[in-house]
Amino acid sequence: MTAELIDGKAIAKQLRRDLKQEVDELKSAHGITPGLAVVLVGSDPASEVYVRNKHRACEKAGIMTRDIRLDEDTSHEEVMQAVQQLNDDPLIHGILVQLPTPDQVDDEAIINAIDPNKDVDGFHPVSMGRLLAGQPGFVACTPKGIMHMLDTLDMDLTGKEAVVVGRSNIVGKPQALLLLERHCTVTICHSRTKDLAAHTSRADILVAAAGRAHMITADMIKPGATVIDVGINRMEDGSLAGDVDFEGAKEVAGAITPVPGGVGPMTIATLLRNTVDAAKATA
Ligand code: NAD
Repeated sequence: MTAELIDGKAIAKQLRRDLKQEVDELKSAHGITPGLAVVLVGSDPASEVYVRNKHRACEKAGIMTRDIRLDEDTSHEEVMQAVQQLNDDPLIHGILVQLPTPDQVDDEAIINAIDPNKDVDGFHPVSMGRLLAGQPGFVACTPKGIMHMLDTLDMDLTGKEAVVVGRSNIVGKPQALLLLERHCTVTICHSRTKDLAAHTSRADILVAAAGRAHMITADMIKPGATVIDVGINRMEDGSLAGDVDFEGAKEVAGAITPVPGGVGPMTIATLLRNTVDAAKATA
């Protein structure tokens, strides 16, 4: 292996340790305990795992969590009411609705109903608009966590060629904006991009967020590039794979994240970061 392994687990652990200190200070100086509410509609097994991991991480950092568990057949109006109650609750600083919700619930309307001051997932149009305008606000946890990871590498991002594969609202688009804000020259690739390899092979920083196992192979990577693998793909044997063919890519890249143990832990740690920031804003 020639590439440096970017250890998301270790970086996230340090971030959570720093947050614990901030939480302790917030409690002693202002009597505020950051509170995160998680709304889970139905019982999707993958969502259950995410929610459990989020809770464990919050508990360790001293953040109070509250679960709002609603049945699979809960109406859209009832979910809206649950969000409204959390908006009005002074003990709750961050609200997260686990997506996707069942069909009868309109995810977009639910996200739009969250108080932007409690939008710790950064999915509300106000948060996304602020990001686009270069104003401070909540930023989606995965891309924000990736920027934190890049910062630990001590690399000057200015003028670097950055290529983001994927254009979702939760990863690709905000990732591209964050890299642009740091003066990268940014290209966004997606499912209709012609000749993907022509773009990826120019990238000094390559972020793969397409949700296609092993689609980025070694020959698509510029030697020495920093490769961030966001993909989480469940393989037939039950194992997890990223969007990058790690075995080949690690021989070409300069630095690379593993899956699991790369971006995933950073996403959760950044959710805690956003929740603590939301609580601090009320001090
Ligand atoms: P999405 O399905 O909403 O978006 C995927 C994007 O990839 C789309 O914009 C699509 O145009 C693009 N795409 C699909 N096939 C492509 C192809 N062949 N070539 C180029 N582009 C292609 O997915 P998402 O929510 O953005 O998530 C992407 C991946 O990241 C998924 O595997 C998801 O599980 C994972 N993810 C991981 C974390 C984490 O914390 N590690 C967080 C969020 C998402």
